[in-house]
Amino acid sequence: MRAMADPRRNGKSYRDLRVRLKGSHRGTTCHICQKPIDMTLAWPDTMSWSMDHITPLSHGGLNIFENVAAAHLTCNSRRGNQLDLNRDANGRWIASRDW
Ligand SMILES: [Zn+2]
Repeated sequence: MRAMADPRRNGKSYRDLRVRLKGSHRGTTCHICQKPIDMTLAWPDTMSWSMDHITPLSHGGLNIFENVAAAHLTCNSRRGNQLDLNRDANGRWIASRDW
């Protein structure tokens, strides 16, 4: 369950992160399913853009640019707080820094 009342998910720094991620070269591809995200869709469309934490905040992940990635809303919510899905089908660690 997502802790929507978590203060770390609100406030200026969180909004700034979303804006920065959307404008980055990896801001329009879902890091979970690797497919492009239709940026014209809006929440709560299941295929709309959302920001995911690579290491979930509940697992000690930080609210920093290096720890966020774009994801479809449905992929994001399906993933929840599982850490295993940080690896792709080949077992590579998606959270590598050479993006
Ligand atoms: Zn996706």
